[in-house]
Amino acid sequence: ISVSDLVSESYQRIGAVEDQVKAFLTLDEERARQKAKELDAKLGTDESKGLLFGMPIGIKDNIVTNDLRTTCGSKILENFNPIYDATVINKLHAAETVTIGKLNMDEFAMGSSTENSGFQKTRNPWNLETVPGGSSGGSAASVAAGEVLFSLGSDTGGSIRQPAAFCGVVGLKPTYGRVSRFGLVAFASSLDQIGPITRTVEDNAYLLQAISGLDPNDSTSANVDVPNFAESLTGDVKGLRIAVPKEYLGEGVSEETRQSVMSALKVLEGLGATWDEVSLPHSKYGVATYYLLASSEASANLARFDGVRYGYRSPNAENLMELYKKTRSEGFGEEVKRRIMLGTFALSSGYYDAYYKKAQQVRTLIKKDFEDVFENYDVIVGPTTPTPAFKIGEKIDDPLTMYANDILTIPVNLAGVPGISVPAGLSSTGLPLGLQIIGKHFDESTVYRVAHAFE
Ligand code: GLN
Repeated sequence: ISVSDLVSESYQRIGAVEDQVKAFLTLDEERARQKAKELDAKLGTDESKGLLFGMPIGIKDNIVTNDLRTTCGSKILENFNPIYDATVINKLHAAETVTIGKLNMDEFAMGSSTENSGFQKTRNPWNLETVPGGSSGGSAASVAAGEVLFSLGSDTGGSIRQPAAFCGVVGLKPTYGRVSRFGLVAFASSLDQIGPITRTVEDNAYLLQAISGLDPNDSTSANVDVPNFAESLTGDVKGLRIAVPKEYLGEGVSEETRQSVMSALKVLEGLGATWDEVSLPHSKYGVATYYLLASSEASANLARFDGVRYGYRSPNAENLMELYKKTRSEGFGEEVKRRIMLGTFALSSGYYDAYYKKAQQVRTLIKKDFEDVFENYDVIVGPTTPTPAFKIGEKIDDPLTMYANDILTIPVNLAGVPGISVPAGLSSTGLPLGLQIIGKHFDESTVYRVAHAFE
């Protein structure tokens, strides 16, 4: 099969299902077909080929792409055409993938259902009445619907793993620092990571390989060797020590979800791994800590959208103060405004010690819980989400219920460790359930090794 055929198939599938799924915000068909032709010219020659030669890929729309509209799911960036590529995009060029288009998301990655997009609601391909999860809902839905083989998402509090779980695909949040954030529009800089969403664990390992590594343009990217991740897919989990936090199977977690984790543990036991129940005692403060810290960072990061530098500018302003106010009032959606107000409040003088500083201290305790468990165990296993995908509209008017959906993914971002979601059977309503596997800092290899046992 030629690259052009593969790319054609991708666009054909998009033509067939996109009316219903609505995963893409922008398609880049002309350039994709051109790129496919260039790559096809290499077929049958002995010219060296990239790691993901010819593979069609979709990109979450908060990752900047040169001369290709990048909206972050926000009206404020509706017509924003970046003039450079994110580091991960440069790395994909080197791996010779073909970018099919840009994928829908909750505005500025704030949300768990993709209903906060300023443009459209993406639907879950498993059941069009349910949400695909979020904020990388477009990234997960496009892979689940067969529109692309691979996609990139971003995960600040669960936005790769939760939609992957809801859509029955594989999604990994790398260790903080594993993948460059240069060109990822910042939401909460101390938590954000770009990561791969794929159909299989093997594909996931290859895509992570392609995008990982130290980047001089991102001072928080880590100078740590990038191992050959695919080499860890041996199927051998004998002797591995698995920790199962009791907090991850407690209140709010559905019985079916609990059962699916138990079955997964049986599989791993059968393969020679052992498991014990452990405790992550501070995890219960994860959601509160996260919403203070993430909103504080967001309020600072989003100050740049002022109608002066780039993006939307209100035509209704008479002076500079009005320009700021009207641009931001008209350009940002409800949830983004809520986070900016929350964050600005938490950082304001007189409140800083009570909220932001306190949250930082609790973050340290949450991180330490993970370190303590990892002294005796190789991985932590639990569900990705308390329940499978919920109905469109069900939680959108109740932000706190929406926030609670991330209770099992958020602590992983606060600790900075890697976590994957792999499909773990179906609910009685026929919706996918996700199993979460969490590893030590920079030990994605062991995470993949365990994940691969389910393929
Ligand atoms: N749902 C969480 C939030 O709304 C996490 C989002 C994310 O990981 N980008 O902040």
